[in-house]
Amino acid sequence: MSLDPEALNTCVACGLCLPHCPTFRVTGEEALSPRGRIDAMRSVEWRGAPIDDDFVHFMSTCVQCRGCEPACPSGVPFGSLIEQTRVALAEQGRLTPRWQRAGLEVLRHHRALLTGSTLLAAAQRIGLVPRRLGIGTLPLRRGPAVAPTGIAATTDVWLFTGCVMDAWQRGTHRSTAAVLDAMEISYALPGSGGGCCGALHAHAGLHDRAATMARHVMGSMPGRAPILVNSAGCGAALKDYGRLLGTREAAAFADRVYDVHEYLAIHAARLPELRSSGLAVIVQDPCHLRHVQRAHAPVRTLLAPIVELVELDDAGLCCGAGGAYSVMEPELAGEIRDRKLAAFDRAIERSGASVAVSANPGCSMHLESALAGRGVQVRHPIDVLADALP
Ligand code: SF4
Ligand code: SF4
Repeated sequence: MSLDPEALNTCVACGLCLPHCPTFRVTGEEALSPRGRIDAMRSVEWRGAPIDDDFVHFMSTCVQCRGCEPACPSGVPFGSLIEQTRVALAEQGRLTPRWQRAGLEVLRHHRALLTGSTLLAAAQRIGLVPRRLGIGTLPLRRGPAVAPTGIAATTDVWLFTGCVMDAWQRGTHRSTAAVLDAMEISYALPGSGGGCCGALHAHAGLHDRAATMARHVMGSMPGRAPILVNSAGCGAALKDYGRLLGTREAAAFADRVYDVHEYLAIHAARLPELRSSGLAVIVQDPCHLRHVQRAHAPVRTLLAPIVELVELDDAGLCCGAGGAYSVMEPELAGEIRDRKLAAFDRAIERSGASVAVSANPGCSMHLESALAGRGVQVRHPIDVLADALP
């Protein structure tokens, strides 16, 4: 599989990552833990073990949440190990079936994605989409797209609008635009080819496709202006282009990328006086914000002055959404979500909160219907911030 031997060698099998791994927590199986997966990779790479069905199962059930990385005292780069492994499995046709590849292709064609999303939303309304797939209620209408206030050559920032984020949570783009307007920060939108970051393709082991899409995205936002992203999964992907493409240009591009909360927290002095609601709000950290970008603190910096923040007590354990994971592994994803919901139940009991925030469309859609049944509405942190504008 041509895995980096140095990276594989770094694991000292201490097991400190195990409590942070959602698949280990719900199954108790060593093979479905980071340590077990690394041992299986070593068996194939170093001891000539075959790539059999068990091996594929161990790798395909990883949510790629990377909760194991911050917990690891040896600094094992698990994210790149599992990604390389999945590339090898996809190349051998052991992962990412044709129907999934076809579905991922749609993400590159925004009009087709918008149409498909509306059809899926209609199918949901008449009960044709199984609930066990964990897809939240998709919008039948998404409202107007945001209009840029800056042009490429002189804009203060670029606003990356993405594919699924624009199809499912376009209102959050309008909230982001309202906050930027209030701060007098101009924004431009990506040009041609900048519609999809390729994160789900990289997750699925489709490295070449992800690399091509990364090059298109880079070309769609030229210059030196910072790039703001309000979907945690997309932000993590754009920040990883340097590693994905291995070029100096890609590394320089990645250095311009900010999760939107990071950028707004740095420039918080430009915010007008906000209206405090004092509402209790549960904060759910998407793994790609907390474990990968390590940029979950700015969400709290921005919201603390206007709401009462309520923390979950599960140390940022994954919710089970994991890009397409809830569709590919619905049973495990459901069990992982049940653990997360138990943490929500404790937070609701403590605080009486009726709102939760999550900065990733996959996570909020995965949690939405279960939390609605508990009287909790899931919103994006920027929507809550925009509500507090004068
Ligand atoms: S914490 Fe790091 S070194 Fe320890 S078992 Fe997990 S991956 Fe290996
Ligand atoms: S990435 Fe997440 S699911 Fe995969 S081994 Fe690490 S903690 Fe477990």
